[in-house]
Amino acid sequence: MTFNDFNFNEQLAEGLLSMGYKTPTAIQQMAIPVVMEGKDVIACAQTGTGKTASYLLPVLNLIGQNPKHQISTLILAPTRELAQQIDQQVEGLAYFTEISSIAIFGGGDGMAYESQKRGITNKVDILIATPGRLISFLTSGSLKLSHLEYLILDEADRMLDMGFQEDIMRIISYLPAKRQTLMFSATMPGRIRTLAKSILNEPEQINI
Ligand code: AMP
Repeated sequence: MTFNDFNFNEQLAEGLLSMGYKTPTAIQQMAIPVVMEGKDVIACAQTGTGKTASYLLPVLNLIGQNPKHQISTLILAPTRELAQQIDQQVEGLAYFTEISSIAIFGGGDGMAYESQKRGITNKVDILIATPGRLISFLTSGSLKLSHLEYLILDEADRMLDMGFQEDIMRIISYLPAKRQTLMFSATMPGRIRTLAKSILNEPEQINI
């Protein structure tokens, strides 16, 4: 199997080429077609397996060549480091498209908050966020997510370990009910299955 089998649009195929990805990894082979069909997914996958591109590629392809420059995609990540890594992969893969992204996370000073606030109001398609920081933007009214189409939870088990369950449920209360939701987790304890039941709609389960 090669990436050509997915028939991604030309700009995305160019991005893949420039990133040097040649063969889809196991998780990419399994997840990409399911996400492209519009289904919800719960995937058990470790870091290093190519899990990030397994959700980014189909979503970037679905957003397509005419991005609306309003937030259609929210990616929740447990840490600033992961949020920044995801943003770097978006920027690499989407380099030849018009799709734009921003990562927002806590821990910065007031300056960082202000520049992140300016950033999210500035024609962004993909928002990558840690839960705590996102909650403060949502409750202060400086961010609306009423156009959201794709919600992705990355390293969901780690977000629960860090105590973000309540924040995640609050964030979801701000999102349209009609959306595609993808959840990635390295482990599948009972709490992850319970969270999956409450936020996913007839998900396809993927294990690698
Ligand atoms: P991840 O598991 O998403 O953290 O990805 C691990 C690393 O593999 C990242 O540095 C990616 O850029 C890289 N990567 C992802 N997919 C591929 C692929 N199909 N071919 C080569 N490298 C990849």
